[in-house]
Amino acid sequence: MMYRIEVVEKKRKRKLIILIAIIIPILMALAVFSGIKVAEHEYLSKRENIMNFSQEKNYNNAPNIPNNENNNSSEEEKGNNNQSIVNNNKENEQTNTGETSKQNEVDQQSSDTNEVNQQPSNQNESGSQNSNNEPEQNQNETDTQNPSNPISQNQALTDSQIKAINSIYSSDTKRVFLTFDDGPSSTVTPTILDTLKKENIKATFFVLGTMVKSNPEMIKREKEEGHYIANHGYSHVYKKVYENENKPLEEYNKTNELIQNALNDPTFQSSVFRFPGGSNGGYYDDIKTKAKKVLEKNHVAYLDWNCLTNDSAGATTEEEMLKNLKSTAKGKNSVVVLMHDAPNKKQTAKTLPKIIKYFKDNGYTFQNLYDIL
Ligand SMILES: [Zn+2]
Repeated sequence: MMYRIEVVEKKRKRKLIILIAIIIPILMALAVFSGIKVAEHEYLSKRENIMNFSQEKNYNNAPNIPNNENNNSSEEEKGNNNQSIVNNNKENEQTNTGETSKQNEVDQQSSDTNEVNQQPSNQNESGSQNSNNEPEQNQNETDTQNPSNPISQNQALTDSQIKAINSIYSSDTKRVFLTFDDGPSSTVTPTILDTLKKENIKATFFVLGTMVKSNPEMIKREKEEGHYIANHGYSHVYKKVYENENKPLEEYNKTNELIQNALNDPTFQSSVFRFPGGSNGGYYDDIKTKAKKVLEKNHVAYLDWNCLTNDSAGATTEEEMLKNLKSTAKGKNSVVVLMHDAPNKKQTAKTLPKIIKYFKDNGYTFQNLYDIL
């Protein structure tokens, strides 16, 4: 009986062992399998993450396309902005052109004056203080009003004529050149022309392109009455005029064309340029120095001044203007006077008779650029 029991137990043990032997490998296999699954899952998860990352990158890139488009549209906007700037500039120019732009003129004049006070005139051969720098003009045009004038303003200046301009401050006899900048205006220029006519004096007008556009009939009158029409550029905006060394010539050409239109004379050459603010010193001195060479190559002379009333800034009364005039003309044989016939310079026109009287009383003869070309 005991033996049978033992045999049964042995059989159970065997079965158990067999079961265990079968189950363990199965469990192990399952474990390995599940391990692989886990690993695979992890791998897949990682891969998924990588893919997601890539997709994220792609996503980020995707907006880059629109961004690029945005950039393009930004460029377009920039373009539009530039256009706006151009348009604004045009508006400003147009504003400057009109006589309503008195404040602009005043501002520009003030700037001029500041520069003027800083710069000595290198054209002042006499070596006297050239606190006033402004250019005059050579009218080469046939001047029927001035039959004694041998110069035709339909020809480019010769080297000797340019030299004559450059040596204007040197003279054995007392002479004075009255010059008026920033016009013509309908409010001030006619009064000045009336006074000059009455006194039989020929002057030089450094006209501004924007103003020529507005008052072409004044250019005609100046020319017909024997005055020299010189060139003060177009915009009088320093940033534009002195953007680079070629700009002064460009402004000269633009204004010269407007003068030609006003005179209905396509061959007219104003030939003498006056740098806004003067040809020396100031923030744009380097550009001005280079621009002079560009002008010279193109047979355009430039002229500053060696006397001024300071009507462009500061002097608003007859007393102040005469005081400035006398102090800057003192001791000079050859005087180039800077004045302005911009729309707001009525006091200049009012003071002109006394200015003329001062020079007459002191033995000066009145000349314009025709007389030295
Ligand atoms: Zn000016």
